Amino acid sequence: MPAPIDLGPKPVLAYADSPLDRAAEKRGDDSALASLRQAQSCLHYVVGGDWVVLKKTSNGFDPAFSFSEVSALANDAWSLFLGLQGDAPRFGFGLESQFAESLKARDEFFVTDLRSIAVQGLVPAEHLPALAETKSLIHWHLRHRFCANCGAHTKISQAGWRRDCPQCKAQHFPRTDPVAIMLAIDGDNCLLGRSGRFVANSYSCLAGFIEPGESMEEAVRRETLEEAGIRCGRVRYLASQPWPFPSSLMIGCHAEAISREITIDRTELEDARWFSRDEAAAMLLRKHPQGLITPPPSAIAHHIIRAWVEDGAAVLD
Ligand SMILES: [Zn+2]
Repeated sequence: MPAPIDLGPKPVLAYADSPLDRAAEKRGDDSALASLRQAQSCLHYVVGGDWVVLKKTSNGFDPAFSFSEVSALANDAWSLFLGLQGDAPRFGFGLESQFAESLKARDEFFVTDLRSIAVQGLVPAEHLPALAETKSLIHWHLRHRFCANCGAHTKISQAGWRRDCPQCKAQHFPRTDPVAIMLAIDGDNCLLGRSGRFVANSYSCLAGFIEPGESMEEAVRRETLEEAGIRCGRVRYLASQPWPFPSSLMIGCHAEAISREITIDRTELEDARWFSRDEAAAMLLRKHPQGLITPPPSAIAHHIIRAWVEDGAAVLD
């Protein structure tokens, strides 16, 4: 039994653990929404496509705007009801991507992408779930202006949670795409890979979209076999993470490797190999002798690798 490895305090998983009550029963109540929107305690998150608009303050950046601030910003935007934080309403304020980008020219704003905000800790972590919710919803509206059934122009309804087709009466709902992300384990070694898109020296868990008619466990085994030629047996769920790039749900798992010989799918991966627990610990702590690293703590891959480094084979129990 290898000695336990202590990596220090557990980091926060970005975008997860939202403090909001989604209060879905209010979505169809236009008069209640109108007064919630203008409440003193109401805050709005401003997003356009991949761009998030932050206010510059003397203490850094603030992602939350008042009703008067967003009203001054634009009079044509999607108003998306995100939920209640205690009694305080939270809305997404959805802009066209180009308009949000044009706000870069204004001194009072800092316009950047959500991934940078999370990785660099530009705003307090409690805002990240609402920003993720806003970004995924807005992306869906930008890409679903027309009915998939008859092609007519659809209209926003239910405070941003549905689009209705006036012609064929179809109702369309925002989608979430499940992705299996997994760490295959063979005793005291784990399988990590890197794609050409990764930053230099970074290795991570393998991952792939769960396909129609497929269970999470089946997707874990299929993706690991396709990408690295490794067969897996037991699969154990660890945690999930909303991943608003644009609208995935990352479903984090550990899997028991039952073969050892790696065959890399070069269309998906640049490299894949086995790493020992000590090596993985050094990568998490940014102390690997060759400078190899894992994804940052904002990503679920970091947490999946960390859970195995700390708990070993017990993650498969
Ligand atoms: Zn239609």
